[in-house]
Amino acid sequence: MPFETEKDLSRLCIHTITTKPWSIEEALKYYSSAGVRGITVWREALQNRRPAEISRQIAEEGMSVVSLCRGGFFPSQEPAKRRAAIEENLRVIDEAQALRAPLIVLVCGADPGQPLEESRRQIAEGIQAILPHAEAGGIRLAIEPLHPMYADSRSAINTLRQARQMCREIDSPWLGVAVDVYHLWWDPDLQEEIGLCGNAGKLFAFHICDWRTPTVDLLNDRGLMGEGCIPIRRIRHWMEAAGFQGFHEVEIFSLRLWQTDQHGFLKRIIEAYREFA
Ligand code: ZN
Repeated sequence: MPFETEKDLSRLCIHTITTKPWSIEEALKYYSSAGVRGITVWREALQNRRPAEISRQIAEEGMSVVSLCRGGFFPSQEPAKRRAAIEENLRVIDEAQALRAPLIVLVCGADPGQPLEESRRQIAEGIQAILPHAEAGGIRLAIEPLHPMYADSRSAINTLRQARQMCREIDSPWLGVAVDVYHLWWDPDLQEEIGLCGNAGKLFAFHICDWRTPTVDLLNDRGLMGEGCIPIRRIRHWMEAAGFQGFHEVEIFSLRLWQTDQHGFLKRIIEAYREFA
């Protein structure tokens, strides 16, 4: 791999879900040989694997685990389900530790049967319940605000401002935010909020992809960078101006792209990253 290529890609990370048809062993082998240095691991990819063993393989490839996706889904009208969610999140923290992932991304959850305010109260409660365990394990937690189209059942936290306010209320250095351009690109306050999160030391992660027109599936029709209308490079500049120095994480769920040859897709990801991010 020529030096320039390595340098260009030094901050590129790919989420295992992006190349969902590949096993985690395939993903880390092919990412690594393409010059990708960061990997974010989805829990699904760890099924029937020992996280410590995967951690060893990742290190062997000279790669870093950027984060584990994902924890969260705290709210429910049923107290038993809320308790179960907290238990599950404690297990996610143990998994992150075994994987040596420094960060867990939280898709916070929502229950369509109750007001969003109530779901947000339960999210704060859930995060507070797991923070001591995260802190003891040296694992940071990132609230990922989700696009409002997911406010019914996936997250009651829909803007960066709401995420920042929750961080402020809970006030722990172990809690911050994940900025995903797919969820936040439309927000007129985005630049200002990124700046405020940066000042507070809360910019923990940055996820990139694109927004297609028309979007034909609410969950699984994300675009490759350059296929849509998100000003990715502009948002990246805002992140960097706010002090963010972490990885640029490509996170694409796409039934369309999962059907294509994943080697060709990986090549396109790297080209698109260079050109549009
Ligand atoms: Zn994301």
